[in-house]
Amino acid sequence: MFEYSAPLDLLTDRTILITGASDGIGKVCAKIFADHGASVILLGRTQSKLEQVYDEIEAQHPGRVIIHPLDFSVATMEDYQVLASSLDEQFDCLDGLLHNAALLGIRSPIEFYPDQQWRELMQVNVNAAFYLTKALLPALSRSTDARLIFTSSSVGRVSRAYWGAYAVSKFAIEGLMQTLADELRNTTSIRVNSLNPGGTRTNMRRDAYPAEDPATQPTAASLMPVYLYLMSPDARSLHGQAINVRDFNPGK
Ligand code: NDP
Repeated sequence: MFEYSAPLDLLTDRTILITGASDGIGKVCAKIFADHGASVILLGRTQSKLEQVYDEIEAQHPGRVIIHPLDFSVATMEDYQVLASSLDEQFDCLDGLLHNAALLGIRSPIEFYPDQQWRELMQVNVNAAFYLTKALLPALSRSTDARLIFTSSSVGRVSRAYWGAYAVSKFAIEGLMQTLADELRNTTSIRVNSLNPGGTRTNMRRDAYPAEDPATQPTAASLMPVYLYLMSPDARSLHGQAINVRDFNPGK
């Protein structure tokens, strides 16, 4: 696993938005980014869970966390624009956007995949990432060194039977990442990459593999050197890459 000695001021003066910050990997990212000096904006579906994360961060780093509950399955472009306007009033720019929220959905052959679930999953995993990116690109463009990270999966790079909408949504995320990376390469300082965390001990992993002993999977905390590095000034030269946490080695 990648080792990174991140100084505690690594992300000082950076403002970073994390989706799915109420649980799992996103929650741990929100806390670690704040621990390293960032102001963090937490997006998630369940207000009570977001408030718990807010309380934990606010107790350690007063005035550096805000929450914005938003259910991606029903949010419209207008909701994302309201969010962008509200952030514009509070911050000069946005230095990082971590697209992390996702639904797993059911495991089913494509032939029997329920179309309503397919649509909901695409709305949350793909369309929300498009809407949010579109609404926040002006704020990201005002940063002198912004990071845009999409969260992928092993089945978003090589698919497997029965992973249905989830696998297809992650392929779409890779396409969105590549398209944006090419568009933004020479016109902004925004660096765009996708990251596959690999199997991680969260509720999603438990739902995907109910018979597995969770202790066999790495914790979200153990992935944080890679997430911190990718959000940091050190990752300035990484762009348009499909990265795996497990074999990440920027020196290669
Ligand atoms: P969790 O299920 O633990 O957390 C998912 C987060 O997404 C929660 O904060 C959840 O909010 C939020 N979310 C779900 N639906 C919506 C919605 N409709 N609107 C807004 N927010 C929503 O997942 P992980 O932490 O395990 O996964 C994080 C990312 O990593 C995902 O993109 C996943 O695909 C990817 N990944 C995970 C792997 C793993 O083994 N864990 C492996 C490979 C990829 P709420 O708390 O309200 O439910």
